Amino acid sequence: MSRSAHPAGPRHADVLPEGHYSAPADDLNALDPKVWAHTVGRDADGVVTVGGITVTQLAEEYGTPAYILDEADFRDRARAWRTAFGNDADVFYAGKAFLSRAVVRWLHEEGLNLDVCSGGELATALSAGMPAERIAFHGNNKSPEEIERAVRAGVGRIVLDSFQEIVRVAHIAQSLGKRQPVQIRITVGVEAHTHEFIATAHEDQKFGIPLAGGQAAEAVRRALQLDGLEVIGIHSHIGSQIFDMSGFEVAAHRVVGLLKDIRDEHGVELPEIDLGGGLGIAYTSDDDPREPHEIAKALTEIVTRECEAARLATPRISVEPGRAIVGPTAFTLYEVGTVKPLDGLRTYVSVDGGMSDNIRTALYDAEYSVALASRTSDAEPMLVRVVGKHCESGDIVVKDAFLPGDLAPGDLIAVPATGAYCRSMASNYNHVLRPPVVAVRDGAARVVVRRETEEDLLRLDVG
Ligand SMILES: *Cc1c(COP(=O)(O)O)cnc(C)c1O
Repeated sequence: MSRSAHPAGPRHADVLPEGHYSAPADDLNALDPKVWAHTVGRDADGVVTVGGITVTQLAEEYGTPAYILDEADFRDRARAWRTAFGNDADVFYAGKAFLSRAVVRWLHEEGLNLDVCSGGELATALSAGMPAERIAFHGNNKSPEEIERAVRAGVGRIVLDSFQEIVRVAHIAQSLGKRQPVQIRITVGVEAHTHEFIATAHEDQKFGIPLAGGQAAEAVRRALQLDGLEVIGIHSHIGSQIFDMSGFEVAAHRVVGLLKDIRDEHGVELPEIDLGGGLGIAYTSDDDPREPHEIAKALTEIVTRECEAARLATPRISVEPGRAIVGPTAFTLYEVGTVKPLDGLRTYVSVDGGMSDNIRTALYDAEYSVALASRTSDAEPMLVRVVGKHCESGDIVVKDAFLPGDLAPGDLIAVPATGAYCRSMASNYNHVLRPPVVAVRDGAARVVVRRETEEDLLRLDVG
């Protein structure tokens, strides 16, 4: 095998250090459609394009780093979820994955509903014209002010998360002369993570009211007695980045069991069941997510079967995908600043962003892929770690990946599947300015969230 342009640094499978990575792809220039937004490709010169625009144009116009969001892809995915579940179910996009007014408008147009979990998210949703009745308000510690605002606005549901909140929401609604539709969030004793299904330690968490020990039943008992509340259903959210439907199966079984107990005790059949979000996406070519229609079919079948067995009318189902809609729609475009080969280890590639625009790698040990975007290359693959510019050695964007061995400062690289939980979790660590979100569609680009400026930073610092 021939060596690449770099004088040092491992290039070959037989000298690779330990780490969690697959062998380099046969063609490093190829863009796996599983991890990239639908309109992403390369033009005749090998430059990555999205929505008909090259990344070099985007970098020139908007600078780097930048989140580049494929609007057509977002709409396609939102619509696929909506269509898959049809008119007998509701799809609530989980706004915490990424929320902006443009996104709210797209969701509205595509017929989706919206989950919010703070006053800020509620304000964004309302200011972009999402009808309040299509908004669900979540959170384990909503403030009285937030609750009042949500009730006054007329949100379609508030998801209650504790005994105290049951009383709090009832009291606020009643004082406003309203009867607030609510769901009660329970923990069913399963917690699902990527590629695994753990049935322990699940109730030991801050969200929800445990089904175990009769607490959830007691919560329903109390809520049903309060005039300010209209209990419309039970809510369960079992985890995130889930590929295996068995966790939903157990959750649905247990939620339906509770609905049956409620019917037997109170003579009421609650009309709704919410199975939460958490459906996984492909961050690397190793991930195999399911299509919305497969998920819809599986969930509908599970709930229908469980309800038939319990002799209950099938409730209206709702789901709350966040990552599965927005995650794959965006990539982060970075410029390479330095390339530092460490003998016998790997090559560190420093980019102009990092943990302030993508905390997931540091926070969850998340895996990402990366591609050279401003050109193609036939150089030998080199094992790289893509790192940021922050004063923290854990400031890693892509832990282990392969890039062409002739990578050099000034090259643009793109990290796909950063649409979810990257901009929404972005920080100002080291007073680094948060990147813009640029939406592209049909050859046109527009900023939907602008880049932060030093004036923005200094405006908050009142001296
Ligand atoms: C986070 C969250 C979601 C969305 O999770 P994804 O993994 O992005 O699909 C849905 N519902 C609730 C209650 C959540 O907390």
